[in-house]
Amino acid sequence: MPDLGYGCACGTLRGTVAEATPATCSHVLCHCHDCRSAYTYLGHGDPGVVDLVQTSQDRIRVTEGRDKLRAFRHTPRGALRWYAACCDVPLFVTPLRPRLVHVGMNADRLDDPAAIGPVRGEGFIRTPDGKVRHKNILFVATRLVSRVVGRNVTGEWKETPFFDAAGEPVRDPKILARAERSEALSALRR
Ligand SMILES: [Zn+2]
Ligand SMILES: [Zn+2]
Repeated sequence: MPDLGYGCACGTLRGTVAEATPATCSHVLCHCHDCRSAYTYLGHGDPGVVDLVQTSQDRIRVTEGRDKLRAFRHTPRGALRWYAACCDVPLFVTPLRPRLVHVGMNADRLDDPAAIGPVRGEGFIRTPDGKVRHKNILFVATRLVSRVVGRNVTGEWKETPFFDAAGEPVRDPKILARAERSEALSALRR
């Protein structure tokens, strides 16, 4: 199975997703404000919807420019949002604890996004009546849980570029100040 390349916009930070296929990666779309405001916080336009590859952290390698990897959190309880500090592009989102093994990768950074197959699910879709709904989220969630359980059985959860042996993030995440968060949110198109 092929390893799929990815990189930041300027090419300083590069890496691979090991054995990236539609079987090992779930291609999903996320409409949530946190995924979108990761872009606006970093100075980009609101993408409206964010294309994500859900897989497990042991598949992610950082081969060049590891020192450019940075993390922030929208709130003190928020997920870790990883980005490349050289050109400020969002790269990954992970939970706070390595045992959860999950990673969502921003698919716009993949060399060949077609390799991960068609969209399998969609989250946080806003309907005209103001409700939020999800599409096919059970399939995506079931796959996610099976990856977590599997990696905890085999010990592969320890193979991650995002956490050290003590289970701490490899970079101290910046927690956005209230003003920074509201500025990033106000740049969303709704
Ligand atoms: Zn860069
Ligand atoms: Zn999201």
